[in-house]
Amino acid sequence: MYFIANWKMFGSIKSVNSLNKVISYSKTNKLKAKIIYCPPYTLIKSFVDKTKNSNIKIGAQDCHTQIKYGPFTGAISSKMIKDLGGKFVIIGHSETRAENDNKKINLKIKSALDEKLNVILCIGEKLIDKRKNKTKYVLKKQLLEGLKNLKNLNKKVIIAYEPVWSIGTGIIPSENDLKKNIRFIRNILKISKKFTKSKILYGGSVNPKNIKNLMRIDNIDGFLIGGSSTNEKIFIDIMKKSIN
Ligand code: PEP
Repeated sequence: MYFIANWKMFGSIKSVNSLNKVISYSKTNKLKAKIIYCPPYTLIKSFVDKTKNSNIKIGAQDCHTQIKYGPFTGAISSKMIKDLGGKFVIIGHSETRAENDNKKINLKIKSALDEKLNVILCIGEKLIDKRKNKTKYVLKKQLLEGLKNLKNLNKKVIIAYEPVWSIGTGIIPSENDLKKNIRFIRNILKISKKFTKSKILYGGSVNPKNIKNLMRIDNIDGFLIGGSSTNEKIFIDIMKKSIN
């Protein structure tokens, strides 16, 4: 089970101390959870240093389409993330999709894989897509265009299904819809013969109250967690409740 913390634009240099309890928990937990923190770029190095004697891995929340260096003011490349000790990168999060079409996302994934980073590709429909019954169309397009012409590096790409209407709203999909959409994603990956071994996570308003119900959906390999991951007690509570 993956528990990936997306800190978005939160955290200060002091936040590194908030990892203490999670580090201790990661050494004792029975679930053998794979815990990954994706803090803002400014905190990657201090998070890497803090977690170096633990199983916790660190990632970034985005990267540039170029592999190494270039005249791109304000941008960070996959190479730079790797240089800091990052092992993962979130690509295609809905909060970044306004500036990123599927073509750009595809180039970003390629740059990350070339640097041997693990990719967390976020896909998900907006509320308007859901209302118009276009969820499957959107998921298929985001998957196929995002993964186009990439080498089959199965385990290097994790898919996070994040319905946009569920992020930060406290609303999660019904058990039935979630099962159906995860199954649909697996089928697309199977049919395209690509990334058939990729893990598929759910993301959107995961919290200690809904984790037990979410755990009942047996085709989910873990969770991408935003708001609830920035508080260590709540984050641990979610992981604990996922086993009990
Ligand atoms: C996210 O940003 O990926 C996310 C799932 O956020 P939240 O858990 O706050 O809905």
